[in-house]
Amino acid sequence: MRCPFCGSDTDKVVDSRSSKNGQSIRRRRECLECNQRFTTYEYIEDVSLIVIKSDGSREPFSRKKLLVGMTISCAKRPISSDRLDEIADEIKQKLESRGEREVSSHDIGELIMEHLKKLDDVAYVRFASVYRKFSDTTEFLEELKNIQK
Ligand SMILES: [Zn+2]
Repeated sequence: MRCPFCGSDTDKVVDSRSSKNGQSIRRRRECLECNQRFTTYEYIEDVSLIVIKSDGSREPFSRKKLLVGMTISCAKRPISSDRLDEIADEIKQKLESRGEREVSSHDIGELIMEHLKKLDDVAYVRFASVYRKFSDTTEFLEELKNIQK
């Protein structure tokens, strides 16, 4: 670290401690040139995800958006909002665990459908219809047929 007093970049760490919540480390450093002390902080890099939409544009991942989409699909169905909250967390964690900063909206849609399929048929069809925007009607009808079986 460059010393803010003399500009030298030789220093030693004299004290190092983590913050209460473990989210950062504070280090006291002493410049080996001028012996002045200064402080640096170390943080975990924010793993904010970026969503690539079908038209190629990008937007920050929003857990809230994900939840709203599922909530609309599950309207008047016997599904608690706690359960949807859990699913939103599961999906978010799954995306983060890939270790890639960018995820496609398609992948997110598929993950949501995977969960809704297990959860509730009506919610699943509702979501699938919105998600695919009826752009592929045959596919949507296939889904409906599968559920009627
Ligand atoms: Zn210095």
